[in-house]
Amino acid sequence: MNFIFLGPPGAGKGTLAAQVAVSYKIPHISTGEIFRAAIKAQTPLGKKVQAIIDAGGLVSDDVTIELVKDRLSKEDAKNGFILDGFPRTIPQAEALATIVKVDAAVNFDIADEAVVERLSGRRVCKGCGQNYHLAFMPPKTEGKCDKCGADLYTRDDDKIESIKHRLEVYRAQTAPLIDFYREKGALVDVDARPSTDKILAEFEAKFPQK
Ligand code: AMP
Repeated sequence: MNFIFLGPPGAGKGTLAAQVAVSYKIPHISTGEIFRAAIKAQTPLGKKVQAIIDAGGLVSDDVTIELVKDRLSKEDAKNGFILDGFPRTIPQAEALATIVKVDAAVNFDIADEAVVERLSGRRVCKGCGQNYHLAFMPPKTEGKCDKCGADLYTRDDDKIESIKHRLEVYRAQTAPLIDFYREKGALVDVDARPSTDKILAEFEAKFPQK
C-alpha cells in the first residue's frame, strides 16, 4: 500500500513509519531525513537547504517534488511506501497525485503543547537516524544509539524558536492537506498520544496485510 503520514512535527510519524516499514516490508521515505543526510554530506542540495531547515522553514516545492519523484521511481518503492513529511503543501499533494495513487493519508492528531514537549526532548542518532526521547524512549546508554552505538544529537530545528516556527508553518501550509485527503476519501485519523506499540497495533488492525 501507498501511505502518507500527515501531522505536525513531533507527532511520532517518523517513529511509527520506521516500524511500519519493517512490518509491511515497504520503504520509509522521509524527506526531512533525505535533507539531513544531504546537509551532513554537504552536497549542493544540502548547502542550499541548510539555513531554511535550521530555521524551521519549508524547502521550496520544486526542489522537494523533484527529490520525491526521483525516490519513488526506485525499484523498492514499486510495492508500496510510507511517505513521512511529504506532502507538506497543497502543490506538493497535487504533484504527488500525478505520480502515484495514495491509498491512505494517515493523520496523526496531537495538541501543540505535546509537540513542544516531545520535540524538545528528542535526540537523533548521528549514524543511523534512529529517534529517541529523553523521557519517553531513552537510549540504554546515555547519549549513544542502541542500534549502532553512534552519538545522539539534538536537531537544530528542535530548538524552541524553531519548534514554534515549525508549528506555525504546519498550521498554515500543511494542515489544509487534512481536508484535501478527506475530500478524496483517503484520510484515516490516528490518535498520536498513546505509545508507539499501541499506535502500531491500531495501524495493523486498520490496514491488514495480505
Ligand atoms: P522533518 O524531519 O519531516 O520534520 O523535516 C525537517 C525539515 O525538512 C522541515 O522542517 C523542512 O524544513 C524540511 N522538509 C522536510 N520535508 C519537506 C517538504 N515536504 N517540503 C518542504 N520542506 C520539507
